[in-house]
Amino acid sequence: MPAEPSYVIVGASLAGAKAAQTLREEGFGGPIVLLGDEAERPYERPPLSKGYLLGRDEKSSIYVHDEGWYAEHDVDLRLGVTAVAIDPANRGVRLADGGVIGYDKLLITTGASPRRLDVAAGDLDGVLYLRTVQDSERLSAAFRGGGTVVIAGAGWIGLEVAAAAREAGCEVTVVEPAPGALHASLGPELGGMFADLHRGHGVRFRFGEGVGELRGSAGRVNAVITSAGTELAADIVVVGIGATPNSGLAQAAGLEVGNGILADAALRTSDSDIYAAGDVANAFNPLLGRRIRVEHWGNALAGGPAAARSMLGRDVTYDQVPYFYSDQYDLGMECAGLPEPGRYDQILYRGDRDGREFVAFWLSGGVVVAGMNVNVWDVNDDIQALIRAGAAGEHVDPARLADPDIPLTQL
Ligand SMILES: Cc1cc2nc3c(=O)[nH]c(=O)nc-3n(C[C@H](O)[C@H](O)[C@H](O)COP(=O)(O)OP(=O)(O)OC[C@H]3O[C@@H](n4cnc5c(N)ncnc54)[C@H](O)[C@@H]3O)c2cc1C
Repeated sequence: MPAEPSYVIVGASLAGAKAAQTLREEGFGGPIVLLGDEAERPYERPPLSKGYLLGRDEKSSIYVHDEGWYAEHDVDLRLGVTAVAIDPANRGVRLADGGVIGYDKLLITTGASPRRLDVAAGDLDGVLYLRTVQDSERLSAAFRGGGTVVIAGAGWIGLEVAAAAREAGCEVTVVEPAPGALHASLGPELGGMFADLHRGHGVRFRFGEGVGELRGSAGRVNAVITSAGTELAADIVVVGIGATPNSGLAQAAGLEVGNGILADAALRTSDSDIYAAGDVANAFNPLLGRRIRVEHWGNALAGGPAAARSMLGRDVTYDQVPYFYSDQYDLGMECAGLPEPGRYDQILYRGDRDGREFVAFWLSGGVVVAGMNVNVWDVNDDIQALIRAGAAGEHVDPARLADPDIPLTQL
């Protein structure tokens, strides 16, 4: 009987761990090696800027699997191990300790890393980033003392951290070069709603200004000078200015990259034995008709399993509607689709916009391209169905779309 092929996954987080789970669920009986450079077993990151940061969630709740799951399912989880090179010609992954692991199929789920603040004195103590569980614990400890927090970036991470810092009793100012909050992901109108929510909780914003310089004494930050020359006192600076895909390994191995690892709709890279999923993959989405790189939990959760099935030779077309959720203060939301500025020409509301209990729809040429439910639940699947219908060219009646008495399923 021929030996089962061996599968290696580089990147032990949500996408990688879910891929390993799917390989076993689909009946794969060969060796699976799951490599991760962090010391923790795979965990989910959304709580790091929400319940775990606020001290509400137990650490045990953030893990993808129980501690014993990997051994029980014969998944060789190797933590604290960094893959330093991929050799596609010899199908091997070289590790930092010089060892090499051979593979028949390889999945890269190396995720993304926070973009660093490229300013003078950017490495002072008190300048913090948020990606790992240790980062979250560091922030949580820093907020416990109260004090003055300046946040660079009014994106999702920046705003969720702002909410956590306010709830911990800190003074918070957010500095953002764009004209508004969440400008690139929601556009000015809905981004403005989030800015108002934060203002109502005492957060100050400085839009149109970046962090120009940091100042400190005895190696510790004490002020931010904005690009407009304004000096803001700061005990802590949190940097949330985006993330860059960890595609260096793939690039050095000669795979095609460009804003992440380029992959087809089956999550196959330019090497037919190597796959990519999660934050690092820039994969063709047939629904949208273009490549997208999605830095969201739902994409790691579904993309890892899709890549695993593809590795097993199943017929996979990964055409997920991009999905994202966020919790800030008493506002919970889910957003489906990509409502980036320039990709819509109309926004319609169903429900109570001022009371922040509504669904917003972004339309382009009369078809739904994105939708966000705010403090309204159990509708996101219906929103996604409308986006799928929109992608197929189906128009909706705007009056019916905005009418909360007509169930979304009837549209
Ligand atoms: C603080 C925070 C809050 C978030 N909140 C939300 C949210 O509310 N909603 C939402 O939809 N999304 C949220 N996200 C995004 C979501 O967490 C990511 O999309 C998701 O973690 C991506 O999973 P991944 O497995 O692709 O990559 P990652 O989670 O980045 O994991 C990749 C892993 O690979 C490891 N690795 C990298 N290179 C190597 C190497 N050479 N060798 C070995 N290991 C390597 C990394 O250290 C890491 O452990 C949040 C992200 C953060 C950081």
